[in-house]
Amino acid sequence: MWDLAIIGGGPAGSAAALRAKQLRPDARVLLLDKEDFPRDKACGDGIAAHCREELALLGLPDLIADYRPVQRLTVVSPGGVRVSATVARPNHVVPRKVFDARLVDAARARGVEVRRHRVRALDAHDDHIVIDGTVNARAVVAADGANSTVRRLIGIPATPEKHTAIAVRGYADLPAADDDAQLIAMQEDGWPAYAWSFPIGDGTANVGFGMLLPRLHATGLPGREVLHGRLAELLPHLPARDLRAHHLPLSPGRPRPGVGRVMLVGDAAGLINPLTGEGIYYALVSGRLAGEAAVQTADDPLPAYRRALGKALGRHLRTTDVLAWAAQSSGFIDAAIGTAAQRKEVFDLLVDVGLGAGTVPLPLAWAVARRWLLNGKR
Ligand SMILES: Cc1cc2nc3c(=O)[nH]c(=O)nc-3n(C[C@H](O)[C@H](O)[C@H](O)COP(=O)(O)OP(=O)(O)OC[C@H]3O[C@@H](n4cnc5c(N)ncnc54)[C@H](O)[C@@H]3O)c2cc1C
Repeated sequence: MWDLAIIGGGPAGSAAALRAKQLRPDARVLLLDKEDFPRDKACGDGIAAHCREELALLGLPDLIADYRPVQRLTVVSPGGVRVSATVARPNHVVPRKVFDARLVDAARARGVEVRRHRVRALDAHDDHIVIDGTVNARAVVAADGANSTVRRLIGIPATPEKHTAIAVRGYADLPAADDDAQLIAMQEDGWPAYAWSFPIGDGTANVGFGMLLPRLHATGLPGREVLHGRLAELLPHLPARDLRAHHLPLSPGRPRPGVGRVMLVGDAAGLINPLTGEGIYYALVSGRLAGEAAVQTADDPLPAYRRALGKALGRHLRTTDVLAWAAQSSGFIDAAIGTAAQRKEVFDLLVDVGLGAGTVPLPLAWAVARRWLLNGKR
């Protein structure tokens, strides 16, 4: 009987495993993933500064210290308003092939058993769960990503299409002049849609393009043609190789975070920021909290997990729900970025909302709304 079985070894699953062993070194923790590590994952590889705080909480403050921090962020709004500034705390760009494997290795080193196994079935009993008829566990953390099998098995439907995005990422060689800033270039056509270039620090960058799934379908064209075409159109100087796409279940469509002894975390819980597509920070936070609940309230972990998640992210998620609604109007984003271009504290706050757990104070909300109205509420 395992104390905790975790399904999926991305950042959410590893965070759950690491936290459980950190709090209870004698806990029997099993991590199952359908793939061997290192494995690739379609992602922008952007590790926000906030993630480093989470890594420190998990006892891994130097996990990515050998990667160069990126100090500058440039954002171009759908209407062409541009802001470029030094971020309050630098972000990192670490290929997921490296990042996720390091986390899994750290979990293994802490005594977590890691097995390659694709989960297909769950059976719930009063005091335990049986996975695929062979593995018994008192608690299960479902960290199996955007197309979560476990979420379906426990009867929670997939995120509705209107709250789902799709993005493609690739890698490109980078001119030296572009190497010190992360770029986000938004697009009016099919808004919300944007391309990014995130320099890794070795002369290459992760580049990509993402948009809402209904907007993609509305084009009536094959997905590949639209995503690859728009990436090339927005970043013509950065031809990309190794293109790979994946869905992003955005947080306004998040479900309840589990059923019975099964806790949903990360993408499986629909935890991706609807404004930026950032999900690694939420994956680390939710994974950590589920790992905590599994060992601290082993008899009934889900209520404790739900409470902790609400405390950590509730206000922030409600803020991004409202902002995602307002951001359907590209003029709102023009106004927000226009305000950020004039006031550095607003820029910092927007970064916090887009990449961390930030919220928006009323005076700022008013300043942006006013500018939006003055611009004719496009
Ligand atoms: C193109 C793109 C760009 C992105 N860019 C960024 C970015 O720059 N920064 C950022 O913070 N976020 C970004 N995101 C979001 C980010 O990738 C996710 O939020 C993050 O990977 C979530 O982590 P996770 O651990 O929940 O899931 P994942 O990282 O998807 O891990 C899930 C794991 O579960 C395993 N698995 C799946 N099914 C099963 C099964 N049945 N049995 C066993 N194992 C299974 C998979 O093999 C995988 O290892 C991006 C997403 C996309 C698609």
